[in-house]
Amino acid sequence: MTTISTLGSHCALQVLKGAKDEGFQTLLVCEKRREKLYRRFPFIDELVLVDSFNEILNQNLNEKLGEKESIIIPHGTLLSQMSPPEIESIQTPIFGNKWILRWESDRKMKEKLMIEAGLNVPRSLASPSDINGLAIAKRHGAAGGKGYFLTTSKKDYEKKRDALTTLGIIKGDDDLYLQEYAFGVSAYLQYFYSAIQDDLEFFGVDRRYESDIDGLGRIPARQQMDVEKIPSFNVIGNSPLVLRESLLDEVYSMGERFVEAAKRLVPPGMNGPFCLEGVYNENGEFTTFEFSARIVAGTNLYVGGSPYSPFMYDEPMSMGRRIAREIKSAIAQGRLSSVVT
Ligand code: AMP
Repeated sequence: MTTISTLGSHCALQVLKGAKDEGFQTLLVCEKRREKLYRRFPFIDELVLVDSFNEILNQNLNEKLGEKESIIIPHGTLLSQMSPPEIESIQTPIFGNKWILRWESDRKMKEKLMIEAGLNVPRSLASPSDINGLAIAKRHGAAGGKGYFLTTSKKDYEKKRDALTTLGIIKGDDDLYLQEYAFGVSAYLQYFYSAIQDDLEFFGVDRRYESDIDGLGRIPARQQMDVEKIPSFNVIGNSPLVLRESLLDEVYSMGERFVEAAKRLVPPGMNGPFCLEGVYNENGEFTTFEFSARIVAGTNLYVGGSPYSPFMYDEPMSMGRRIAREIKSAIAQGRLSSVVT
């Protein structure tokens, strides 16, 4: 009997509830400090308590998961807590393509894949001297927006970089990636690519609610200038969004191009859930500044189904459940190796 497992954070509840709904055993690798929270949910069959998530790299835990024929569902916490080589060394099968997670973590590789997919990507700046207009400095990996800042000149960049270094949030220039600021309204497009059906499903859209930047509208511009604090882009939660129906054709097209590009650059490709993240301008044109090559926390909005899932499923279908269904179909067809790495 296959067990679906994940780390206790990010979208673990959605993933394990979906797995249970599809008839799987469920297992949560849970930090001791969060045991009380996760014991509340009866659809979690087993909790493996750890002091830190890095214990998933230990032989013992891998063996335990192996006995259960476990499949790990990767999410943002796995990426933020472990380096790509560490993730690649995990012996337990990982749903989707674990090799593409390295492309998500490295800003240069990320940019290459987005360009290969023919997406409209903001220009990256090789050095602070290239800043000409509004730019954003971002950290590598799944930092969740912490330590990001906006800047318009080299001098201002250096001041903010030094302040964040003093606070211990970054180590210096090497931790930062500079990109032109893309103007518009944000939208995070959630997809699922089924390797079993060779089909792309568009699941939903969310917006991130980021502190401090999304709170600035409540402070008059004049007072904003008086505040010394560098506003951060730290994700606090997500809110739902539906798109104008006329935008959907291009949404599918962007997702398909991304899937094709991933097949070429990172075999076996972009299997499973992923997200294209960016902004729409006033002409409804999308600029992609980021992708996530695994389930995103914005799908937590749609545990009972999204505004789009009823067009594909006659039952409540979350992204977590969709993952479990893919694994179930793969097992039934003897094709599990097509959906895990
Ligand atoms: P990221 O880690 O790339 O998802 O960025 C975190 C947040 O920073 C996003 O949710 C946006 O609010 C903002 N952001 C990142 N890149 C850009 C960009 N090039 N232009 C405008 N906003 C951006």
